[in-house]
Amino acid sequence: MSNKQFAQIIVDVPTMQTNQPYTYQVPDNMVGIIQAGMRVDVPFGGRHVMGFVIALVSDTDVPVQQLKTITHILDLTPALNEELLRLSDYLAAETFAFRITILQTMLPNALKASYERILTLIDEVDDDTQQRLFKGLDQVTYQAREWTTEDIEKITRLRRAGKIEVTVKVNNKANIKTQLAYQMSADIEFLENEYQALKTNAKKQRQLLTFILGHMGEKWSKRDLQAQLAVHDAVLNHAVTHQWLTKTRIEQLRDPLATVAVGPTSPLALNSEQQSAFEAIIHAADEGQYQPFLLEGITGSGKTEVYLQAAQHVYNQGKTILFLVPEIALTPQMVQRVKSRFGAQTAVLHSGLSDGERYDEWRRIERDDVKIVVGARSAVFAPLRHLGLIIVDEEHETTYKQSDNPRYNARDVALWRGEYHRIPVVLGSATPSLETRARAQRGVYALCQLTNRAAVGARLPQVEIIDMKETLAAGPETNFSDQLRQALNDCLARGEQAILMLNRRGYSSFVMCRDCGYVPRDPNCNLAMTLHMDTKTLKCHYCGHEEAIPTQCAHCGSKRIRYYGTGTEKVEAELATLLPQARVIRMDQDTTRKKGSMTKMLTRFGQHEADILLGTQMIAKGLDFANVTLVGVLNADTALGLPDFHASERTFQLLTQVSGRAGRAKKAGKVFVQTFNPTHYAIAYAKNHDYEGFYQQEMAVRHAGNYAPYFYTIQIQASHTDENTIAKQMFQIVRWLKSRASNDVIILGPSPKPIAKLRNRYYFQIILKFKQRDEMDVLLTTLYNRAQKAKDDLQLSIDRDPVSFL
Ligand code: ADP
Ligand code: ZN
Repeated sequence: MSNKQFAQIIVDVPTMQTNQPYTYQVPDNMVGIIQAGMRVDVPFGGRHVMGFVIALVSDTDVPVQQLKTITHILDLTPALNEELLRLSDYLAAETFAFRITILQTMLPNALKASYERILTLIDEVDDDTQQRLFKGLDQVTYQAREWTTEDIEKITRLRRAGKIEVTVKVNNKANIKTQLAYQMSADIEFLENEYQALKTNAKKQRQLLTFILGHMGEKWSKRDLQAQLAVHDAVLNHAVTHQWLTKTRIEQLRDPLATVAVGPTSPLALNSEQQSAFEAIIHAADEGQYQPFLLEGITGSGKTEVYLQAAQHVYNQGKTILFLVPEIALTPQMVQRVKSRFGAQTAVLHSGLSDGERYDEWRRIERDDVKIVVGARSAVFAPLRHLGLIIVDEEHETTYKQSDNPRYNARDVALWRGEYHRIPVVLGSATPSLETRARAQRGVYALCQLTNRAAVGARLPQVEIIDMKETLAAGPETNFSDQLRQALNDCLARGEQAILMLNRRGYSSFVMCRDCGYVPRDPNCNLAMTLHMDTKTLKCHYCGHEEAIPTQCAHCGSKRIRYYGTGTEKVEAELATLLPQARVIRMDQDTTRKKGSMTKMLTRFGQHEADILLGTQMIAKGLDFANVTLVGVLNADTALGLPDFHASERTFQLLTQVSGRAGRAKKAGKVFVQTFNPTHYAIAYAKNHDYEGFYQQEMAVRHAGNYAPYFYTIQIQASHTDENTIAKQMFQIVRWLKSRASNDVIILGPSPKPIAKLRNRYYFQIILKFKQRDEMDVLLTTLYNRAQKAKDDLQLSIDRDPVSFL
């Protein structure tokens, strides 16, 4: 019997992407070494490319003579496991992305093959090639970007003629950090002899040797050994010269949480609503059932306590837990709470980690050294085995959706993995997305509700709506109504703290000439720029373009330049006049650029080193400070005006979340919401903490407008450097779709996107709304594949269930 092996490989060919694996022969010397999930170097169309082995088979329909052979194995162990390979297949179809892109997305950065093609001269070549391209050397790396098409053709010709050989080298960016360690001798006879020979006063040596006899053959880091024995370097060096110990190095894992000191906490006695949610979840876990749960609980109702106790239950059975949060940096308290229960068994994955730290965490997970992974969006690909439970906190958050290719939603990936492992998946929120809530309504998800604040004496805060039209009519321009200013005064006088939210950073929203109305716009995006006082510049918040604040109008020359609108910086300045004694922390993208600065600010606020935390919507979520009794929303309208059918939903969610920061413990909380739309239903329902009322009304609005969750939504967006070309292409696409899609598919557009020009490219969109998903998927996949082949500057992407239309 032949033990011939074949590999199915997804190759990385940027210009010719396909989700179809290619079959290659596995050379005999690789059989037994090669495994699915490894990366390999293979010949492809006269070149060498990298590919992922997705399966090994012993049979193939293709005649063996026609198959090429794998050249090199690039990984020593599989980079991706069986489950993740399967997941990549599902995700490629789900997100209209190529499988190779998905596979790359799943890998930690450090492992991403930034591979080089190495060209080696194996025969005489002409002078130009030798001198100019090879710089007189025998070997160079392929300069795909520097060389002209003629150069590349020439190299290709020489390669075909067998004068140049091409090989691939993967630069694994990951470097493993090591530390000094000692390998203890395992030779008992030798050690015992040494022991007999010790001088009676060699106390430290005796102590060390006794320890070695108790741990023969083990490897101990120097740090651990000295922590255990308190022996000086001299004693260790003596042991090395006498061969009791051999110096070596062992891997040192970087621990990103090392600086977070957390004491252990114990589970709280659950209240009856928490108890029934907990029991339902662990029942599904014990039965080995795939079951999504919607844990709908008001802010502060103790959802986290339910997550932690359910996690403890599956942990005790030796299974692992994946715990997703919207953004780690914004939820340091959540990480601390998990660490306080699971200690060193916790791994944290998030974008703030260096590539090295992330890689370390990834390997600890892969080796089963950790049992619970807390992380943001991309942590959903954590290679956990024996999963027992998945938690998605704040499931409605848009940060779970990746805004670039591949446009996956981590919540949906979590559900896929839950089904794969046949386990419960808990989706938690105070303000569930309409899609999720509608599924719970239909019984697809089990619904568990927590309707009271859990902490003793804690109640939902009272919310007051303030009509800013009246405030501004009555007096000079300000960000603070009388009511809010008075409440701030009282709050600080009581020694309590306040949170203020304004959803715009910078000093003002734009600058305008008073005489002619000219607004300086940024040259790349044609958007009004935001004034920043600290840097004395105008900035484009989309592309980062920055220029000096004009002192005179570029259009009419007038010197009467005025600042309109408001930003966090301006509010900070206004606070300094209103409440000069108040200590303010401003938290926005501009003040939190430095790694760790956010955590520091929150720690300071938690220790009452500041009275007011002023910030953009990054402060709306997750914060739990007992001394915060006042929350002020300075302008509730920013999200309402967006050209997006989610505008009301986002406004309701944001107001509910930020209100939830007040009165979380015994002290009663109060919220002031300043708005120009005091009667809008999203604001009115948020005032009454009425998710149910909002849900009913918003569902009616969605139904009337044929929006999700009644219809599937797809956004096709495309861009080009030339405005006419892109407009024309998009009209063609609409015609193409109309001639193929069934009549009940609603096609809107093409139209320029709300942000129509960005970084010198023009953006257009088409919106599709439909009920028959499978049929449209076939059409859209065809469209996507065709767009890849268009050898033009056109960039097209297809976004399923888009979370933003900007
Ligand atoms: P959520 O995640 O729903 O916002 P948390 O889990 O953060 O709520 O709980 C809010 C507060 O209530 C926390 O301070 C928590 O310690 C407390 N808490 C939660 N469950 C209980 C309980 N069963 N008994 C007493 N306090 C509780
Ligand atoms: Zn710009």
